[in-house]
Amino acid sequence: MTVLNHRVQHWNGPSVSLSFGVGYDYLFFMSKPACPMCEMNEVLDHPEKWECVTCGHEWERTPEPEAAAGPRVVKDAHGNVLADGDCVVLIKDLKLGGGNQVLKGGTKSKPIRLVDGDHEIDCKMDGMAIALKACFVKKA
Ligand SMILES: [Zn+2]
Repeated sequence: MTVLNHRVQHWNGPSVSLSFGVGYDYLFFMSKPACPMCEMNEVLDHPEKWECVTCGHEWERTPEPEAAAGPRVVKDAHGNVLADGDCVVLIKDLKLGGGNQVLKGGTKSKPIRLVDGDHEIDCKMDGMAIALKACFVKKA
């Protein structure tokens, strides 16, 4: 504890805290866009839009960087690219709900929907709504 206290006191010195302050301002500045109308950087952060403090202009938020990188590519066990609306076939038996139920390899799904997460495929099989990993299926 003695060492920690000593460090904290050291970091709180005027010159050091000034440089921290500049760093935070920089990050803050970088996380928000400039107003497209007046190019001022003072914008309000709403869930679905930006609002310029200076001129009142509102515009839609751009998607998060990962979303802007393009649609995610999901591939089946054989490397075929899967898309919404494809049907898939299980390549192996899959246990469901703790192993009480088994979906047999070869079972075909209803048209799938691709979702985020480690189970990329949302679909119905045997009348049940299930989430599947793409590595356990092949394109039908
Ligand atoms: Zn503006």
